[in-house]
Amino acid sequence: MVECVGVTRTFTRGGSSGWFTRGDAAAETVTAVADVSVAITPGELVGLAGPSGSGKSTLLHLLAGLDTPTSGTVTLAGVETSSVSSRRRTRLRLANVGIVFQHFHLLPSLSARGNVAAPLIETGRSKRERRRRAEALLEQVGLGDRVQHKPGELSGGEQQRVAVARALATDPALVIADEPTGELDTETGAQVLNLLAEVATDRAVVVASHDQQALDRTTRLLRLRDGRVTTVEG
Ligand code: ADP
Ligand code: MG
Repeated sequence: MVECVGVTRTFTRGGSSGWFTRGDAAAETVTAVADVSVAITPGELVGLAGPSGSGKSTLLHLLAGLDTPTSGTVTLAGVETSSVSSRRRTRLRLANVGIVFQHFHLLPSLSARGNVAAPLIETGRSKRERRRRAEALLEQVGLGDRVQHKPGELSGGEQQRVAVARALATDPALVIADEPTGELDTETGAQVLNLLAEVATDRAVVVASHDQQALDRTTRLLRLRDGRVTTVEG
């Protein structure tokens, strides 16, 4: 589904904007991801572990086609992400990747159903079909009785389940989740993880987390340090 070969991503930090960038001694290059190779297929729940700053989010963004590597290749659904225009890459991502964030990122003015249906607007489905699909997904995540609620009227765990439903709206083959339980207590976190494990039966799911209960459920675990994969378990 998604494959990285020798992927490195560097950022320039400090002095990178403003008048006096050129030759600015304060500018430094940070290697966020260093020479990572990994192939992820449907049916896998892959974990990314490692301390803060070890490159987990950067690697997720590369896998999702939100970002492209400085060197090496990321091939998503058969397309090398660096080889296409950013517009085409956006389309590739929308068609193939669902994303769950730590802070849910739901639109506050829309109902749960509106949030889940939002990614379907671009797909040419009728409003009726979008609503029906959103309701079915909310049912699937155990929120069939919350479709009309706005995010502010839902608990954190419920909001994250809406976010998982939204990530599934376009039926993506790859779902990535960045610290999806970071804002949740153990029990609601476990509900979200159950859901992601269920999702991973027929899709590829990649979860970056500090949460041991999340890492315990993965079928494969990559430990990162300073952007490098130090160990692979499973
Ligand atoms: P993690 O998710 O494991 O905490 P990140 O992928 O966010 O790690 O960050 C890895 C490293 O890359 C850190 O040193 C971080 O400061 C740096 N980094 C990430 N994104 C950027 C960026 N857009 N600009 C500059 N540095 C960045
Ligand atoms: Mg992160």
